[in-house]
Amino acid sequence: MRLPRHPEALAKVRHPTADDPLRVLVSGCLAGRPCGVEATDYGLGAKLPALARLACVRVTNFCPEDFAIGTPRTMPDIHGGDGHAVLDGAARVLDEHGVDLTEKMVRGARAMLDHATEHRVELAILTDMSAACGTQVISDGCRLVPVRRFTNGVGVAAALLLRAGIAVVSQRDFRTLGLLHAHLDPTFSPDPSALDHHETAWFKETFPSR
Ligand code: SF4
Repeated sequence: MRLPRHPEALAKVRHPTADDPLRVLVSGCLAGRPCGVEATDYGLGAKLPALARLACVRVTNFCPEDFAIGTPRTMPDIHGGDGHAVLDGAARVLDEHGVDLTEKMVRGARAMLDHATEHRVELAILTDMSAACGTQVISDGCRLVPVRRFTNGVGVAAALLLRAGIAVVSQRDFRTLGLLHAHLDPTFSPDPSALDHHETAWFKETFPSR
């Protein structure tokens, strides 16, 4: 489930210890790996949520696009739906040249789920807006256009993790991440003004009916 949309699920996250840490999967770029399309981490390594450094949290990372397509690579985006639609065969993943990357993206998603299973991952913090890792917003079609369009949905790898029962949250869901941090470390005081991505003015303006 998408934790920001189901805040009641936070209470069900167990209280881990340093001896039995919470096993968290993060997007490779969020862990600082230069696995983005142009072989950078998009500057996200510096934005890894602080809770990932708690002694009671063990982080593992994976990049499904690097696994299946390689780095550097062209820009994959979903056409005709979100990651669930791709898994159901109802949408395709194309790059900016129109090359069909659907099969590779599904293979990368399966490899990410295998990695999560191997490491007995309990929760995933993923990079939003990615056709693989997005959990709140993804591009609606190619993003390398004069006027980029967005859709409220998840990427291919995020969809597969969700179908396997792994809770997901994006690096932009600051309210949920703060509450999760406080759940794991009661001495932490979350910012009461923090917003999740779907609570921001940008999101409400972009998706007025949500
Ligand atoms: S596929 Fe995921 S981990 Fe890889 S660069 Fe994109 S957002 Fe980061």
